[in-house]
Formats: sequence, structure tokens, C-alpha cells
Amino acid sequence: MKTPAPKEGKGESERSSTSRAGGSGSKEVLRLDEVSKIYKMGAVDVKALDRANLVIRKGELVVIIGPSGSGKSTLLHIMGLLDTPTKGHRYIDGIDTTNINETQQARIRGHKIGFVFQRFNLIPSLTALQNVELPIILCGDCERNGKARRTLESLGMSNRLDHYPSQLSGGQVQRVAIARALVNEPEIILADEPTGNLDSKTGKEVLEILSDLHKQGRTIIIITHDESITKIAQRVVRINDGHIEE
Ligand code: ADP
Ligand code: MG
Repeated sequence: MKTPAPKEGKGESERSSTSRAGGSGSKEVLRLDEVSKIYKMGAVDVKALDRANLVIRKGELVVIIGPSGSGKSTLLHIMGLLDTPTKGHRYIDGIDTTNINETQQARIRGHKIGFVFQRFNLIPSLTALQNVELPIILCGDCERNGKARRTLESLGMSNRLDHYPSQLSGGQVQRVAIARALVNEPEIILADEPTGNLDSKTGKEVLEILSDLHKQGRTIIIITHDESITKIAQRVVRINDGHIEE
């Protein structure tokens, strides 16, 4: 299980001095090698991903774009350790995580990956602050002391900490969701159609936040069908019929 990735994977410390824009000198945080995902539908095999190759380096902002049914959600689930490949290999931080079990997947997810979803997925009965504290509590050994509050404050939400999701605007809800994704300082932020449920002005604000986080050195992957989002990308990856093209 713990074989090293074929290339790179330097043992560099978290958020160190690598170039903030990412690039060929930066550490490899995620690698898919010839990854296929095949869903069995009775007698029929649906190939949702077909020998996909992808390398994401620390500090990159990558937009993955493709039409409906092209395999985006499947790719997101595999990159985010929510599902496993049928064939091929997946490496996170240089470690082969292709065949790990669900408990191990959950553990790596909790530490290394922050999710931002189209439908926000906040818990309605928890306040903004409590929603952001949740991943810290779930992580078990993650440090707590005021991080949730500070993260919300950094996203301009200091006067909304005790609001419930229903008392916030769409853009504010997405800020809370971004704070929740950031709070455990994950290696990678995975955003699935992050502007899909927002009006264009609010969507633009959310993209600006993601763009700012990239400038601060975060690694961000945005999955979308919306061509206009490629404007903020440093790198655009296209997916079509389960094939990845750059
Ligand atoms: P996208 O997110 O780009 O719309 P998906 O990754 O959801 O694409 O789906 C890619 C292909 O795989 C589609 O043809 C879809 O019908 C099929 N598919 C997705 N999930 C499943 C599943 N759980 N079982 C069977 N087929 C699936
Ligand atoms: Mg989808």
C-alpha cells in the first residue's frame, strides 16, 4: 500500500517556501496514473473514467472542465478519496492510496482535503461557527483553539458567526463552506461547481476568494462545466467521455 510515487514526492514541510503559483518545481500533491472507473450496470460496463492521467502540484489553481456526463463527479470522488479507482493508481503526497480501506480514506480526507460543494452542504441546525468547527471535531487530533473563528474572520464573516445558514445570503453561505474546507489547513481544496447555485455577481465574489486563496499558496482544484470560470485558472484540464486532455 505505501509505495512511493514514481517521481518527485520530496519530503518538504507544509506550506513552506515553494513558489506560490505552483509549477514544475513544486511538490506533487496528487497523481492519477492511468486511472479508470468502471460502473457495472447489469450486463453493461459504463466507463466513467478511461485511463486518466493527472498530476497536481502544490500551489496550483487548476480548473477541470467538461460537459455533463463527462466524468467530472467521478473524478472528484476519486481525487477526494470518496471513491476508489477500478484500475490504475492514485497517489496523495507521494503515497499510493489506490487500495486503502474506507477508514484510511476518511483519515487522509480529514487531514488533506477540503471540499466546497455546489449545494454548500452546511448543517442547518448549526451556526456558521459551529459548521466550521465540525471538521476540527471530526478530525480528532486537529488543533481547535479559535481556528474556526479566525478562518471565518479572514473571509469577512466576523459579524455572522452566530447566524444559522438560513439567515445568510447564498454568498455568505458559500464563504462559510469555504471556511469549513480551509479550517484543517488541507493540502488540497476541491471545489465542485462552487458557483453553480449562485447569481453571477456572488459567483464572481466566490471565485475571487478562491483566487486569493491560491495567491496565498493554497492548492485549488475547481470542477465545472462553466467555461467562464477558466478565466481565473492558471491551468485548464478538459475532460470528455472519461478522457482527460490538457
Ligand atoms: P459529470 O459529473 O461530468 O456529469 P459523472 O462522473 O457523474 O459525470 O458520470 C460519468 C458517467 O458515468 C455518466 O455516463 C454517468 O451516467 C455514469 N455514472 C456515474 N455514476 C454512476 C454510477 N454510480 N453507476 C453507474 N453509472 C454511473
Ligand atoms: Mg457531476
